Amino acid sequence: MLNQYTLNDSIEFTEKKEPFGGNLVDIEVEPAPINTDIIFRSKGREVKACLENTRATMCTTAIQNKQLKVLNSEHILAALEVYDISNAFINITTHDSKSRKLFKKLHFAKNTVVVPYFGTDLQRNVCDAIESVGVLNQEVKRPTIRLKKEIISSNKQLKLIPIEGDDLVFKVTTNYPVIGKQALETIITSKTYKRNANARSYNKHMRSEKVKTRGIGKIFPRLLAKVFSDEKGTKIAKYLCYPWLGLNHGFSRDNSFIAPNTIEGWLKQQRMPKEICWHSIIDGLGKVALLSGKLVGVKIECEYADHKTYLKTFKRHFN
Ligand SMILES: [Zn+2]
Repeated sequence: MLNQYTLNDSIEFTEKKEPFGGNLVDIEVEPAPINTDIIFRSKGREVKACLENTRATMCTTAIQNKQLKVLNSEHILAALEVYDISNAFINITTHDSKSRKLFKKLHFAKNTVVVPYFGTDLQRNVCDAIESVGVLNQEVKRPTIRLKKEIISSNKQLKLIPIEGDDLVFKVTTNYPVIGKQALETIITSKTYKRNANARSYNKHMRSEKVKTRGIGKIFPRLLAKVFSDEKGTKIAKYLCYPWLGLNHGFSRDNSFIAPNTIEGWLKQQRMPKEICWHSIIDGLGKVALLSGKLVGVKIECEYADHKTYLKTFKRHFN
């Protein structure tokens, strides 16, 4: 059985841009006592990162209770999970932009905070920071979760298969226009994670093609992408999701994979082979981090499954 771990000391990231409102955010990850779990805190309010507190929204997964709502949390949760850190406080301080201040005055999303991107190297910066302070063994057992039988999501996109041993294995298949199907299978360790932690997410609002495989519900972003240039399409798509978080945004080529028109362009642009698959794994790990123990002896097969599928399946089988 595995023990509980926290950090030896706090790690801090200052003035990093968050994606949805473009506000600058300070984040501190602080050591926490045994059995605390991961708690997001902001201005005296807090919410625990657990399945019960999650809700799939239009653009991301929200972790929320009556006090606080946290958006874009999955990436930092993934980084903590691969280092086995199960106890920590994540303190968030937002430097509100003028427009964000105005929306708050009008009582829009007053208690919503967004986890920022951590610079160009994204989660790799988080890994470096964790390794610089080191993790602390708290000498108390952490529960482990092992599957008795296979779990399959109702849309068949997500499968959790029991395997021998204690490994957590991901097998991810993505399918996007231009590059087509890509598949990647890997055992999750902090080393493999760190090597690929600067994988960017596929920016669906900067391309129009995805709509063809995902139905009419995405028609509006498609039109926007056709009418406006790439960057403007993203900005307007974000306004449709979260206008009240501020009249700016934090998406850029540093943190979003904007698909080129040719396979050669795609391969050249990748930060590592199968970058989009790697980001999909990071997102999946962000969901695994919400479970009430360490998931072991499992292979997660994900074929195009989105955060809604993960949450629905996890809530049905692990709650
Ligand atoms: Zn992501």
